[in-house]
Formats: sequence, structure tokens, C-alpha cells
Amino acid sequence: MTRPLFNISADEHAGVPNVTHRHLPATPLSDDSVRIVSIETAIPTSMAPHLLMMRITTDAGIVGHGETFFCASAAAAMVHDYFATRLLGADALAIESHWRFLYERLANIGARGTELRALSAVDLALWDILGQVCGKPIYRLLGGPVRDRVKVYNSCANPTYSMPKQNQPPSKFGSWPGMGSIGQPGPVSDSYNYFHNPVELAKELIGLGYEAMKVWPFDYPAIQDGPTYISAGDVRQGLRGLEKIREAVGMDIEVMIDGHMHFGLPAALRIADALRPLKPLWLEDVLKTDNLDTLADFRRQSGMPISVSESVLTTADFAAVLEKRAADYIMVDPTWVGGISPSVRMGHLAGTYNLPVSMHDATGPLTMLSGLHVLAAMPNALYQETVRAQIRGVYRDIIDLDVKIADGAIALPRGAGLGTKVNPDIFKPDAPGYRKSSV
Ligand SMILES: [Mg+2]
Repeated sequence: MTRPLFNISADEHAGVPNVTHRHLPATPLSDDSVRIVSIETAIPTSMAPHLLMMRITTDAGIVGHGETFFCASAAAAMVHDYFATRLLGADALAIESHWRFLYERLANIGARGTELRALSAVDLALWDILGQVCGKPIYRLLGGPVRDRVKVYNSCANPTYSMPKQNQPPSKFGSWPGMGSIGQPGPVSDSYNYFHNPVELAKELIGLGYEAMKVWPFDYPAIQDGPTYISAGDVRQGLRGLEKIREAVGMDIEVMIDGHMHFGLPAALRIADALRPLKPLWLEDVLKTDNLDTLADFRRQSGMPISVSESVLTTADFAAVLEKRAADYIMVDPTWVGGISPSVRMGHLAGTYNLPVSMHDATGPLTMLSGLHVLAAMPNALYQETVRAQIRGVYRDIIDLDVKIADGAIALPRGAGLGTKVNPDIFKPDAPGYRKSSV
């Protein structure tokens, strides 16, 4: 018998319907359910103040971890003030049910930004729990592996990229997205090194087995002069590092260019025109991705390979990118789009257009690991983005897995679920930004 969602009866006094609104039923519990008993979030301010770490505990004692990045306390508020009423006491393994329910509620208020980042952290933690219940890495549960290692490229950032010091307010060159500084000299200060010693950097990466590196040499003129114009001199200066690399090592290393969403169409076309002889593998976010028709124009007019991009957030938006022929490469951030669940859908969608998919990271260790699991099970996978300065630095303080890059690739994690645990000190109740919701 179908159960009504609403109990409607006549109000005996006023003669108007008395509507009792019941919650949409969560997925029924069954013998093999594990119930969510608590959700904890914390912000590791001394390590990575934009990062939100999550821990979901079940009545079986299994603990799953999740993460998202940017506006951490706002994402935490979405989880505790909004999602918890659905999740607490519910079956942790009914991932698609929870994802669909929460996404559809979020769609009522636009389903972007903070909302999807909060959902991402939950989705990762639930996949981590499912993997542990099954005793398998997540890529196994996605039908993988289709490869035993995932190729990476090195994004040439400094150790503190996206990780400003505690209490450091955003500044013109501070922690705003796409407005990082060149930084200080150091062994893996790859942004500094690209601008000062590009050939040495490229040779070092080639020697380590990397086949690709990504740089963002046009951020500074954009920050100074705005999005509408870039001078020929600034373009020439931005090209200098790549020109030196091509002169020294030819095409022995692929180079991608990230524009960090800074430029409008004429400036983007001027940059693309100058880059053509240097054969970058792709141009990423040189033009803003907020108008897909202009983006498709940019691709047609420039004739350059275009990557689109961690700034696109829903499967429907990626479908529009593909339909408008605005991309040659697809890039997904698993902790911005709503987690592993939609990342898999987006990757396969790109595959139906015979396009490769890569996963974004420059933000957090679980973002990188969840990307690895997706790519391990994705036939059309190309690269996992990595920042070696972060992997050798702050990631080691946050997770207990020592991620190794060898010959330009990362071997698949072997542990169940995500294959790592988050440092429990981050979840101490007196830690900054700690919140807990429980049954
Ligand atoms: Mg990017």
C-alpha cells in the first residue's frame, strides 16, 4: 500500500485542511545497514585554514572521512544546520539516496558553491564508510581498477599555496583563489622556481619522471590591470619561462597554462595567439567559464586545446560545455562538485564525447585521494593534478598515508575506503572550528 507523504484531515473547528507535513522517508533500514550516529567537522586552522575536515561515525564503529575547501565554516554550517536532520540515524550506505535527496533540496536555492562543497564532504565520508564495510578501496566499488597507477602532473605552486598562515587576512596577493604570490625560494617552491629557474625546474621534473607541469604566468598582469586588457609586453614576459623550457628540453615535458579565470575574451585570445608556437597541452580558465557561448567562441577562434574546469560544478553544466563544443579536456574537482558520486557521472559523460577527464587538486589530501579513486575506475582518465609541495608538506600533517609520486604517477591506494585516516588531533573538541551533531 502506498503511504501518503502528507496526512490531510479536516480541521474540526475551522473547516480548513489541517496539513501535517512528514519528512520524506529516508531509505529504510535493513539488516546490513550501518546507521550514522554523529557528524563532526573541524577546520585545521594552523595547517590549512580554508580546509574543512569531516568525520562521520556509525553505530558499527566505522568512521568515514570527508573534506572540502574554501569557506570552511560556511560549509560546516550547511552540514550541521541543514543536512544533519536527514543524515543522523539514517543508513550510511544509501549514498545515492542521500546525495539525490540533499541535492534536490539544494536545487531549490541554486545548488552551487557552499551547498555543493558541504555535500562533497558528506559524499566522500559515506563512500569511505562503504569501502570499509566492504573491505575494498573505493575504486573497486566503482568497477575498477582499469589501471594500476594514475598519471599525475605537477602544478607549480609553493608549499603554502592555498594555505595562508593562521589569521592572515585575504589581501591583494593573499589567499583569494587565483591570487597567490610567487613565494619564496625553496626546494619545492615551484612557483618561485618557474619564474626564476624554469629550465632547472623542468629538468628536475623530467628527471623525476613527470611528463607534465602546469604554470600560471599571467596572473600578475591580470591582478594589476584587470581582465579586459593585457599588454604585449606582459604577454611576452609571461611566455619567457615556457620559451626557455622549450629551448632547453623541447617537448620532453608537457606544459599546461592556467589563467585562474582572470581574463575576458580579447585578452584571452591575445594570450592564446602568443602561446600557439610553444604547444601547451591545454589552456585552462584563461577565459572565465561563466559564459559557455563565449567559451566555445574562444575555443573556435583560438584553435587551441581548452581544459574546462574545476570552476564548473554540476553534471548539467558539464553537459552544456560538451554540447557547445567548448572543451577538449574535462577537469573535475571532487570536493567542489558534490563528491565522488557526481565526479563519476561527469567523467563518464566526458567519455561519451571521447574526451579525457582529469581531477583537480591543489587544496587537500582527501580531494586528491578521492580523485585518484575515480580516475582508477575511469577508462578515459588522463591526469590527477598534484602539488608536490603540498604532498610533501601539509598533507603529511593531515593524513596518515605517505603519498608517493614515482615516474610521474601514483600507485593506487590499497586500503579500504579512501585508504587513509585523518589526524585525530584535528577533531579534538577544543580545536578551532570544531562542531558535532549526533543522534
Ligand atoms: Mg585550475
